[in-house]
Amino acid sequence: MKVKNEMAKEYNYIKKGDQVVVISGKENGKAGRVLRVFPKKKRAIVERVNFVKKHTKPSQKNQKGGIMEKEAPLHVSNLLLYCARCEKGSRIGFKILGNKTKVRYCKRCNELIDKS
Ligand SMILES: [Zn+2]
Repeated sequence: MKVKNEMAKEYNYIKKGDQVVVISGKENGKAGRVLRVFPKKKRAIVERVNFVKKHTKPSQKNQKGGIMEKEAPLHVSNLLLYCARCEKGSRIGFKILGNKTKVRYCKRCNELIDKS
């Protein structure tokens, strides 16, 4: 049985550095590494996914200015953690190990995602 609280917590399953797969929108099927997570907004930036064009003014860093492509954050409900064993994105669950560390596992094949 699912309660609301549990649903909210599920959004925390994605961490910086994870491999994820996009499961909806125009980037459907693309995979990449999570560069940044915004837990409050439930969004994450995925490397080389969801590029948007940004107009930039010339600055010291970028003297020409002009149009720059940058990854825009995606809602985490559109992302699945990539399971190396299943070789695709998968639903993730949590397990508490004997030493009380919380680890993520693949709900499809039961493989642990976090190796410690
Ligand atoms: Zn799996």
